[in-house]
Amino acid sequence: MAKKTLARKSPKAQSPRSKSGKFVYFFGNGKADGNRNMKDLLGGKGSGLAEMTNAGLPVPPGMTVSTEACTLYYEEGRKTPAAVDREMIENLKKLEKAAGKTLGDVKNPLLVSVRSGAKFSMPGMMDTILNLGLNDQSVEGLKGKTNNGRFACDSYRRFIQMYGNVVLEIPKEAFEHEFEAVKKAHGAKVDTDLDERALRDVVAKYKAVVQSKSGKPFPQDPLQQLRGARDAVFRSWNNARAIEYRRIYEIPDAIGTAVNIQAMVFGNSGDRSATGVGFTRNPATGAKEFYGEFLVNAQGEDVVSGVRTPQPIAELEKVMPKAFKELRQITTRLERHYRDVQDFEFTIEDEKLYMLQTRNGKRTGYAAVVIATDLVREKLITPKDAVLQVDPESVSQLLAPMFEPKAWKALPVATKGLPASPGAASGQAVFTADHAVEWTRQGKKVVLVRKETVPDDIHGMFVAQGILTATGGMTSHAAVVGRQMGKPSIVGAGALEISEAARQFTVGGKTIQEGDFVSFDGLTGEVKLGQVATQPSEVLQVIAGKMKPADSDLYRRFDELLRWADKFRRLGIRANADQPDQAETAYAFGARGIGLCRTEHMFFGEGRIAIVQRMILADNETDRRKALDELLPMQRGDFYGVFKAMHGEPVTIRTIDPPLHEFLPKREDLMVDIARLEATNGDKKTLAEKHKLLRRVEQLHEFNPMLGHRGVRLGITYPEITEMQTRAILEAACQLNKEGLKVVPEIMIPLVGTVKELRDQKAVVDRVAQDVMKAQGIKVKYLVGTMIEVPRGAVTADEIAGEAQFFSFGTNDLTQLTYGFSRDDIGKFLGAYQDKKILDKDPFATIDTVGVGQLVEMGVRKGRSARADLKIGICGEHGGDPSSIHFFEKAGLDYVSASPYRIPVARLAAAQAALQTKVGD
Ligand code: PEP
Ligand code: MG
Repeated sequence: MAKKTLARKSPKAQSPRSKSGKFVYFFGNGKADGNRNMKDLLGGKGSGLAEMTNAGLPVPPGMTVSTEACTLYYEEGRKTPAAVDREMIENLKKLEKAAGKTLGDVKNPLLVSVRSGAKFSMPGMMDTILNLGLNDQSVEGLKGKTNNGRFACDSYRRFIQMYGNVVLEIPKEAFEHEFEAVKKAHGAKVDTDLDERALRDVVAKYKAVVQSKSGKPFPQDPLQQLRGARDAVFRSWNNARAIEYRRIYEIPDAIGTAVNIQAMVFGNSGDRSATGVGFTRNPATGAKEFYGEFLVNAQGEDVVSGVRTPQPIAELEKVMPKAFKELRQITTRLERHYRDVQDFEFTIEDEKLYMLQTRNGKRTGYAAVVIATDLVREKLITPKDAVLQVDPESVSQLLAPMFEPKAWKALPVATKGLPASPGAASGQAVFTADHAVEWTRQGKKVVLVRKETVPDDIHGMFVAQGILTATGGMTSHAAVVGRQMGKPSIVGAGALEISEAARQFTVGGKTIQEGDFVSFDGLTGEVKLGQVATQPSEVLQVIAGKMKPADSDLYRRFDELLRWADKFRRLGIRANADQPDQAETAYAFGARGIGLCRTEHMFFGEGRIAIVQRMILADNETDRRKALDELLPMQRGDFYGVFKAMHGEPVTIRTIDPPLHEFLPKREDLMVDIARLEATNGDKKTLAEKHKLLRRVEQLHEFNPMLGHRGVRLGITYPEITEMQTRAILEAACQLNKEGLKVVPEIMIPLVGTVKELRDQKAVVDRVAQDVMKAQGIKVKYLVGTMIEVPRGAVTADEIAGEAQFFSFGTNDLTQLTYGFSRDDIGKFLGAYQDKKILDKDPFATIDTVGVGQLVEMGVRKGRSARADLKIGICGEHGGDPSSIHFFEKAGLDYVSASPYRIPVARLAAAQAALQTKVGD
């Protein structure tokens, strides 16, 4: 990817040029080079700062070094191009002019913050440096200007520590160790007990740490500091936790981060200063309330790091009423401007308010639905905007379980924390992220309990049932990340005395060891000791008919949003369902049709497996037909129920698919049974039966069952199975048509690779259908079609469409057979493939558009070339995956079929796909 510019004579020209015209974008004095539409180049933070500046809001001046510069930094072998540096220096002059201060000045020094800011927010994953520009001289200037020597020295020691850690890569502990030693020597209990003299002592010690660990003195030249900080932020794009975060959230690695260099304002310059963060609405519940927290006399990092527990924002009104009023006005204006909830950061310096950031706020799925429907009611957005605003996965969060109320009430409340992210969590307590991952791998459910979480905990947070911390506020790392992941989370449960080293916590005199059960409710903040059963969510209760829609505000909003979605989507939504109750649930979720009824699942029903086994064991057709005759009324009953539950919507029923050995006991189990019966002189008849079973199991044993005797191949070798299934389907359909419900069954033949296979089976279906209709004295319409799931089927789709009245892509098998990966054991190497970036995503979860997708496109094109009105759907697992749904929209399919609980996600994703896909894409 690295593009080398041609060598020219002038050394200046060797530096790559910016494609967008420049690398550095200024903002200040009410005017900015950038705007809200430049997130790709300026990152979310940079474009927000530009937009706020243009809107005339109080934003400290600064500049944004673009993401393009970051990309080039990597392309040039981790070197910042000279042109970027030049532009930074030019803009620094503008910044100094706007701020009326000079970097490194002895009298009135400018200090800047240097912060990362990518297109997609990655909270806490990259690095930040504050108070840059301080050195042995300018610290005295700051003291003189603020008349506060303590503040100046404290700022300097914070800067040396941050710079030392982030830029010079000196471990934090080296500084903390010195800090504690000075505290001890001065008899200080807390940091604020240290006076100027003590802090000067800390500064001297810190400089010695830098000298000894890096072999060089702490850099006194502010420009050297600035370059070092800028490049360290570029580097932090590729630290381990940022990479892990991008993997989880599927953020591309190539886009890079911007760097924001901005004049510092000080929330820690005394008791008339403060800093805080907030949301224009509650990001956990969606409630319309001004929401957030602040700390008096503190810097931004103190609020978000969770080290000090901040005060709720409402209290700011009492402490600094003027700044509070202005903050409310500005943030309300920002919400109207962006037409979405804003997540903002502010600092008050000597009672003057400054805005440091605004962006669309991350929220729980629960809040997303509440906020979107509220914004429409408030006429801030249209239903179409609402449909585009909500991440499809959000609606599946509304289906997450809640505690079973009786069991929950039965346990006493151990403590209460801040309800950071709603949902019921119950699991075994673990105290480190690594243990969370390890235990989850062993099949255990865990709750991650931490004093506070740090960005390095991301992997443990991802697998845990819930996150529980003792410190931190609603915008601490644990709260922000928990909400984003849709994980139940409680933060700031201060009564928990956690010892991460001893792997235990104590609360109310009780000690909980690692492995003991803990449960909590992320909506109320209540924590209980013990395990509590969960029950379906409110939405699920309405779906199941156990609660009236009128009694559930949440359900009504969920329903409203999805009905809006239905107006914008083109793709039909069907369900993969095999039983009448599943079909009912799917219908209630909005599926209009069944895209795949896997008939073999019906064979596992109560009392049926013995009959199926008799059919398999039969060594002649007569005996096999006898067993099939017994199955017939059962299957007919199933089909009758499924048709009825779908209220006449189309139902696609697939003939038997899996290899027959799947219906028989395991070979090893049988051998053990036989050995035991022989050793104990067991019942002779049973022994003989087991021997017979074992012989058949051995006959049916396949080395590669997925490529074996399954799908259409079974129907060809045992046509009587297809006959029975067709009879059951048609008899049920005739019955319902007589009862007045018009049903049109779609009979689907699996695993077809050549048209001749389909022709063979279609003849069987048609013959039996005619027989049934004659016997029943009624004619019903039915269709015969096929799955396209063998690559040869896709390649010869035009021939196959000559016989098939519809296609349904079986993308599970199609992925398996295209890649040659077994769908059952890809897990053995998928992790390594993803680590090495051979695969970005699991191709069984998200369709591989480049390879498998081409077969789908070819199947559609060739199929429709032979039969213009061919109905085409997809029934692999990809039918419920939002990004795959976008692909199916573009490929021109008629419908997607997903499992019942994914139907709401599919409805919303299909609407977004239709709205975002331009004709001809
Ligand atoms: C498929 O292969 O995509 C499919 C839906 O069928 P099954 O998963 O039952 O093989
Ligand atoms: Mg299949």
